[in-house]
Amino acid sequence: MRKAVPGQGASRGNALGRARVREPHALEVAEARIGPHEVEAELARLHAAIEQVRSEIRAMRDQLHGALAHEVGEFLDLHTLLLEDPELLHGLDALVRNDLYGADYALRLQRDRLAAVFESMDDAYFRSRIEDIDHVIGRVHAALHAHEAELQGVAGEILVTDAISPSEIGRLQAQGVLGIVTCGGSALSHASILARSLHLPLIVNAPQALGMVNDGDVLVIDGSTGEIVIEPNADDLRAYRTRLREEKRERKQLRRLRREPSKTLDGVDIRLYANAESREDVAEAHSIGAAGIGLYRTEFLFLQGREIPDEEAQFRAYRDLVLGMTGRTVTIRTLDIGADKADETGLALRYEPNPALGLRGVRLSMARTGLLETQLRAIVRASGYGPVRILVPMVSGREEIVAVRRLLVRVQQDLAREGFETAERIALGAMIEVPSAAIALPVFARDLDFVSIGTNDLVQYLLAADRNNDALGELYSPLHPAVLRLVHSVVRIARARGMPASVCGEIAGDARFTPLLLALGLEELSLHPSPMLEVRRAIRAIDLGQLRARAPALLRARDRAGIERWLDSAQPVHLPG
Ligand code: PEP
Ligand code: MG
Repeated sequence: MRKAVPGQGASRGNALGRARVREPHALEVAEARIGPHEVEAELARLHAAIEQVRSEIRAMRDQLHGALAHEVGEFLDLHTLLLEDPELLHGLDALVRNDLYGADYALRLQRDRLAAVFESMDDAYFRSRIEDIDHVIGRVHAALHAHEAELQGVAGEILVTDAISPSEIGRLQAQGVLGIVTCGGSALSHASILARSLHLPLIVNAPQALGMVNDGDVLVIDGSTGEIVIEPNADDLRAYRTRLREEKRERKQLRRLRREPSKTLDGVDIRLYANAESREDVAEAHSIGAAGIGLYRTEFLFLQGREIPDEEAQFRAYRDLVLGMTGRTVTIRTLDIGADKADETGLALRYEPNPALGLRGVRLSMARTGLLETQLRAIVRASGYGPVRILVPMVSGREEIVAVRRLLVRVQQDLAREGFETAERIALGAMIEVPSAAIALPVFARDLDFVSIGTNDLVQYLLAADRNNDALGELYSPLHPAVLRLVHSVVRIARARGMPASVCGEIAGDARFTPLLLALGLEELSLHPSPMLEVRRAIRAIDLGQLRARAPALLRARDRAGIERWLDSAQPVHLPG
């Protein structure tokens, strides 16, 4: 029977296909027994999973460094202790060997027993350690099912799951998955950004999806509106086809703008750079006349495999990127791994108490300068093939930029000595996405060659609102007077120094916000190629002089509703063609 499930569109596109439901690795496992002849194999499976988790934790422990090492180490030690706890291990073995329970159910029973012991303690601290038990047992459970989890992307199907990580997105798309629906998640997460980049329809924040969709149901999903229809009827199928036709018509209309300039009605050129993650993005950016690449997120190279790419592998990727843009400037961002971009190479710490405030971006690069040096060598070598700029993520103040520049100069000297042909001067810029960098910009702007405002993170850190937490609803939004004022101030400071400033957060790719960004003084945006022609269409319908005359009203807006009203009144009218 037809049912509709609401969700939030995170990567547009329509898909029609059978559902593949991937249950989370929760410990709601049903009671299951095994035969006496299966005991040894089941115990071997369980012990292998425990050993795998132990060695993962050991590897993480070995990589700890920097200011948080002590705190994180304590967590990991506690988890190791739990995994070595004789009570836990003997109990598990006994449940499998004597009671003939399957490994999953044995884990579940042991978890409940241990949790009961902790729950009965008077000390609130010990009671709160149940979280750790859940975590450790959950990891062993996940390890038991690791191979099944990897097999679940099936060509021609729509995956329904609780959550998705960026490293899974690429693999699923390559496996031919048509679209993804997740119960949690947010449109601003890195997984969503990657899905958009890969043109893979994604709906997030659909909490009822797992409860309502069954394996094999036919689904229609609309990645723009976030609508999920289970067992679509004739009207739904008609609407789906109409949407496909409309999409095609819109694409055709927009394609006429491929060779047109991104010029406002009063003749101001707005430079549109591309955020590019893949070869396809680069080709698309080139074909629609992007001014260059404004943001190449190198971490996605690191998310593709289990190995850290070496200098040669990185160099080839950056060189091909530069060659692909045939002389247009390419901005390569140094590694921004960490927080929700945990890789499988083990670089990012997995158990930071507060990962968004943890060792990510330039902080990780500073803690692992060997890694940064390799990356800078690869980028500088690529500069021999065309214009390159280097962008540093998560800068919080001057020291980080000074340190990166020092290393960059050394790398340039080394490569020159080694006989490489490289650019003489490579511009070095900072992402302005940590509020401290935005506020302190007047005192360290002279250390920078350009800035790029990362609104995705700037909003998160300025409003203390996790970009991945759907529970926060509208709280996470760039439409806040503090965000607009800070962006305006960064643009003013950059302009006073004649330094290029762009916005490369997701807001730049939403044509509805184009008037707002232009009113704040921006004349350079970096966005994914897929919405670039829509943004160009919006720019071509704007009279910048008139719009900027209305900027003071925008900056006076007192709340989100006031900003929305300003935006509604500033929407340009598109003339046909
Ligand atoms: C940003 O924070 O706005 C940004 C572009 O970087 P990322 O989304 O990769 O964190
Ligand atoms: Mg960011």
